[in-house]
Amino acid sequence: MAVKDVMEALRDVIVDNSRLSELVKDIKLIGRTLEILYKLPKKGMEEYLVDRTREALERVPDVEDVRVRFVEEVPAQPVMGAPAFTRRRVAGIKHLIAVGSGKGGVGKSTVSANLALALSKLGYRVGLLDADIYGPSIPTLMGVKGERVHVDQNNRIIPLERHGISLLSIGFLLPSEDTPVIWRGPMLMKALTQFLFDVNWGELDYLVLDLPPGTGDVQLTLAQNVHMSGAVVVTTPQDVALADVKKAVAMFKEVQIPVLGVIENMAYFLCPDSGKKYYIFGKGRVAEFATAYGLKILGSIPLDPEVSETSDLGNPVVASHPNSDTARAFISIAKLISDLTERR
Ligand code: ADP
Repeated sequence: MAVKDVMEALRDVIVDNSRLSELVKDIKLIGRTLEILYKLPKKGMEEYLVDRTREALERVPDVEDVRVRFVEEVPAQPVMGAPAFTRRRVAGIKHLIAVGSGKGGVGKSTVSANLALALSKLGYRVGLLDADIYGPSIPTLMGVKGERVHVDQNNRIIPLERHGISLLSIGFLLPSEDTPVIWRGPMLMKALTQFLFDVNWGELDYLVLDLPPGTGDVQLTLAQNVHMSGAVVVTTPQDVALADVKKAVAMFKEVQIPVLGVIENMAYFLCPDSGKKYYIFGKGRVAEFATAYGLKILGSIPLDPEVSETSDLGNPVVASHPNSDTARAFISIAKLISDLTERR
């Protein structure tokens, strides 16, 4: 065990809009005792920070004792009542809904695409923005792979249009699908900001934002800088997915973005021959998690071969089989989301 492992564990915890690791002023490992000196973001947060630290360090072996001290940071120019950051609204967008997940492969992009289509079926004007910079799959899912976007006379990107949805993906800006996205830091942030703010979206009721998986800097920066109506998190019922989705929920809560609810994907397998439901990854576990975190389950999507087949063909299940049980599940989730956001 090294200080590096500890810092990595602290990096995953977000408190008061920063990562715990960013608050560390000094850190020492003496035998199995870890000593941490934090700068205190706000008075009264001491106990909370100690708890979150102990929680994070449960995953780091060999630390037996943790001693936490604080030093108060006096802001240079305290401004009474000023928000921690200002969030910009994307012009023309009534509701921006972020779709996040704790880890990759749980079906976040599949859910984003079908959710966008379901909202459109309800009569809303909808856009879909693929910000999954590390694995943009929306072009394949929506059947626009290989297409390129153009700009208007004001140099604003014109989204593509497919299945009645305005679409934009980082994938459209890459030279070829094999290009690894190795952009980091400012370049990545610039590309993403351009995606949101320099786009001629027209007037949309909903923009569905497919975030990268996890709680990295892209998600955090977007959440801090862009006005969002809310976030939904996608998980499967497996332990690994559930463990990580907690971090995603905690991130949204910390940056004060309302978590509208959880979407349980691959909830069960519906046997096409017998019509019987098989709970392959366990039953009731997402509900347990949602109850423990005070979250709403927006809906459960079955593990349905039709979902992956239609996605691979660029014609997602809500567009290709709108009357199937799976499509209906997406439409009912879209209704709940519209109820929750219109009410706000
Ligand atoms: P993520 O965006 O979380 O990485 P994807 O949406 O790319 O995940 O989905 C991962 C794989 O799982 C894809 O091949 C997709 O077609 C498949 N998949 C997602 N949801 C389902 C589902 N409900 N039933 C069957 N296959 C699914």
